[in-house]
Amino acid sequence: MPEQIPENLQKKLADRLAFYEDLGIRLFYRDRSGGNFFHGGQPVELSESVAHSNPIPHEAPILPKPFSKPDLQKVLPAAAPKMAPLPVPAGPSLFDIVDRIVDDTLLRIREDLGECTRCKLHKNRHSIVFGDGNPKAELVFVGEGPGADEDAQGLPFVGRAGKLLTQMIEAMGLQRKDVYICNVVKCRPPENRQPEDDEINTCSPYLLRQLDVIAPKVIVCLGAVAAKTLLQTNRGISQFRGQWLEYRGRKLMATYHPAYLLRNPNAKGEVWKDLQKVMAVLGLQVKRGKSS
Ligand code: URA
Repeated sequence: MPEQIPENLQKKLADRLAFYEDLGIRLFYRDRSGGNFFHGGQPVELSESVAHSNPIPHEAPILPKPFSKPDLQKVLPAAAPKMAPLPVPAGPSLFDIVDRIVDDTLLRIREDLGECTRCKLHKNRHSIVFGDGNPKAELVFVGEGPGADEDAQGLPFVGRAGKLLTQMIEAMGLQRKDVYICNVVKCRPPENRQPEDDEINTCSPYLLRQLDVIAPKVIVCLGAVAAKTLLQTNRGISQFRGQWLEYRGRKLMATYHPAYLLRNPNAKGEVWKDLQKVMAVLGLQVKRGKSS
């Protein structure tokens, strides 16, 4: 015959159990749904009469163990994966990006470009043609993209069109090392075709950073691709060639590409007029013997 629990103690126990039940602790008292009593987490077999009788039988453990911090690895289902370290997002952090914007250099831009495979032009290139010249130049020439000679040497404008550009620079009273020369895309388009929109969109951010870092007084766009990229326009170059325009607060002059001049020598006079405007802004003297 189980010992009777005094009524006042029964009431206290019932209150205490209700309190634990409210907290979600149900392991040491009767499971109302199944009618089982539990002892140490194991159901205790009780006869029907005892299971539904009040008071609680004395075999059943009454009091919970003192609360201790749960061991999460035991509480979690066995299949629960161990906490993996938070994934580190690819690419530069926000701090890196801000740092780069504030403190960019040509070297950094070149490092970011790396052995670029961001667009399809990388597949056939031999060299990335980043740019060449004075990193503090007052004058930057921007072409379209490397040709075969440039791809072979890794330098911009070193082929036939490049020789003509060099003559133009020297006619302005400058040398190549005084100016900076680069292109919209840094890898040679196959068969010297024009760079496609996706290639320009992928590569031109590096050009824009180059221009921001060099901070020239004047940018000369050689041909439509460079002009359209920097001016973000679809207008034909003949509509604005030879006019002073603005790119991010800098003076921009668009003129014909030297390769066009090789095919159309009659257009050289127009280009020379454009370059004389550039010389005037840079305070360069027109050499005697050259006329407009
Ligand atoms: N044409 C260009 O646009 N860029 C070069 O570097 C060479 C030829």
